[in-house]
Parts: sequence; C-alpha cells; structure tokens
Amino acid sequence: MLVDILSLFPEYFRGPFDVSMLMRAQDKGCIEIRHTDIRDFAENKHQRVDDRPFGGGPGMVMKPDPVVRAIRSVRSPRSHVVCLSPQGVLLSAAKCEELSRKEHLILLCGHYEGIDERAIEIAVDEEISIGDYVLTNGCAAAIVLVDAVSRFIPGVIGHPDAVREDSFQNGIFDAPHYTRPEVFEGLEVPAVLRGGNHAEIQKWRETEAIKKTSRIRPELVKERT
Ligand code: SAM
Repeated sequence: MLVDILSLFPEYFRGPFDVSMLMRAQDKGCIEIRHTDIRDFAENKHQRVDDRPFGGGPGMVMKPDPVVRAIRSVRSPRSHVVCLSPQGVLLSAAKCEELSRKEHLILLCGHYEGIDERAIEIAVDEEISIGDYVLTNGCAAAIVLVDAVSRFIPGVIGHPDAVREDSFQNGIFDAPHYTRPEVFEGLEVPAVLRGGNHAEIQKWRETEAIKKTSRIRPELVKERT
C-alpha cells in the first residue's frame, strides 16, 4: 500500500514511523509512506496557507487552493482520499480492514480551526475521526490510522492469526494475557492456562473476554447477540 500524508508539519511524523513494526513494514515493502508539505502548494508570496474565517469567529482556516493542489499532486484514479476530522465517521476495526484493501491512501491532516469546506467537497472521498474529542491537528490522527490499518496488510504482523483474535474482531475484547512468572506480587496465573487443555483454555478465554467487555462496554455484548 502507498500512503501519502499531506500536512503542514511533515516533521511531526519523525519517530512514529521510524521504529518497531511500522519501520519493518516499510523495510519489507508492505507499505510505503510519503509526506507532502501543503505549504509547498501556496502560490502567494509568503506561502500563506491560512486566513481569517468568513462570518467572524476565533482562529484561522486552511485555504482551499493549496489543499486541493496538494491532493491533486499525488492523486490517481486508484487513490482514496481521507480527511482526518472530528466530524468524520468513527474509525473502527472494520473500517481499518476496509482501508487496508485500498491500493493508495491519501491522508489529509487539518490544522487551526480546520479546512475550508469547499476543499473537502471537491477533493475528499471521506472524513474519518479517531474519537469524540478535538486534537490540535490531524497528524496524530493520521499516525493512529496508518498504524491500525497496517496491521491488516499481509506481512506486517508476524502471526496473521493474532489480528483475528484481537479486540473487536469478534465484536468483543480480546481475552486477558499472562506470561512468566507464574506468581507476581501474590497474583497467580489462572490454573486453566497452565493445564494444557486447549478446549478448556478456549472456553475460559471466551468467558473472560465476555466478562470484561460486559463490565466496560456492555453495548458491544448486546450488539453481538
Ligand atoms: N473546528 C474543528 C471542529 O470543531 O470540528 C476542529 C479543528 S481541529 C482544532 C484541527 C484539525 O485537527 C482538524 O482539521 C482535524 O484534521 C484534526 N482533528 C482534530 N480532532 C480530530 C479527531 N477527533 N479525529 C481526527 N482528526 C482530528
């Protein structure tokens, strides 16, 4: 998959994409991440990319022309353009899996009060939010999206089955995990996990997953039945 990230701060992404699994995914060729500075597409003398909002109000708004030019500079007929926005559909595991099948993702990161609505109407396929809160800009949201989507790209996760057992894949949380030591600060690893009976382990995991999901996110258990 090719991912183009359009933002005003390409340097924001130094670090998150240069370590651990995302770095290995790029090294292996599973994913290619490119950065575009929207400011490079401002055609005025001072490379201004923002202006005061029509109708008044606080803050500045990103101008539509540099944004649309930046999108068109990387767009092809196979591209899917996502604008990170608190006003988008909520990112979910199902949406990540759907996006992982796209050949080319273009991620548009907003800044300030947001982007002139006309740029979104003209050049964006969908708006996606990472949660019901407001970030200072879309870069952190783009990092979350790329990370979560990459887990569904073949070759990124060493054990592809692990993704299938993760939280939300079956509509509920993953089961609790334990490793050595068997006793830690007086708490023992549940005996069933040390017994070697795979059918019993499977049953215990499902029961525990449902118990925790019911306690923290009861609506997920209800939606499942
Ligand atoms: N005035 C906007 C509103 O209330 O809907 C918020 C603008 S926010 C300060 C600036 C940028 O951060 C947005 O354009 C968007 O790209 C990004 N952003 C903020 N919260 C986000 C969220 N929950 N999910 C995805 N992107 C978000």
